[in-house]
Amino acid sequence: MTARVLIVEDEPAVRRLLAYNLEAAGFEVAAARDGEEALLQIEELPPDLLILDWMLPGLSGIELCRRLRRRPATAGLPVIMLTARVEESDRLRGLETGADDYVTKPFSPAELVARVRAVLRRARPAMAGELLTFADLRLDLLAHRVYRGHREVALSPTEFRLLRHLMENPHRVFGRGQLLDRVWGLDAEVELRTVDATIRRLRRALNAGGEPDLVRTVRGTGYALDLPEPEAAGFSAPGSAGR
Ligand code: CA
Repeated sequence: MTARVLIVEDEPAVRRLLAYNLEAAGFEVAAARDGEEALLQIEELPPDLLILDWMLPGLSGIELCRRLRRRPATAGLPVIMLTARVEESDRLRGLETGADDYVTKPFSPAELVARVRAVLRRARPAMAGELLTFADLRLDLLAHRVYRGHREVALSPTEFRLLRHLMENPHRVFGRGQLLDRVWGLDAEVELRTVDATIRRLRRALNAGGEPDLVRTVRGTGYALDLPEPEAAGFSAPGSAGR
């Protein structure tokens, strides 16, 4: 499936450079010159990812990003913010608006394309058509198979969906209620302790070869996919800072 990227940039030269490189990389590309035009386009045909310039006439990139995050239909739309500013405070503000990643001008087109791929892979792994990976775990969405290192792990459909959800959102803690909603579905008639039981079975299956436990229990809160303690110290992926 081809991912659609919407470029929001008022400078024609940058817009063309982005469009040219993204098209060459196999993406479907649309462009808008300002925030208002972008909102209209997003409403008409939602893109899979937005490349958003910080400095736009009228509605700023930050304001547009905030508005998108507030609307349920666009709250999860992946956004890469483009900016000429390099100050750290701006960088942080960019992330606080909910941008998934941040690219400073001037940028190398190849790097930008790589960032687009990475953000899409994180946000829409099915669309990227690739494997989900975490530590030595691999989850193949197409073949519906899970591997721990070279060992194939047999999972029930529910365990598979649970693991998939955790791998799509690594390091993020989910309450049992949240997991019920997202993995079992809102109208499923299951109890919270079903989540605990499924986590237990998932852990057993994943660690059957004596591997370290990647499922972290956050007492009183829920569960997260995390690296085991020693490796976790000092670990902070830049991409995990968004949302
Ligand atoms: Ca601009």
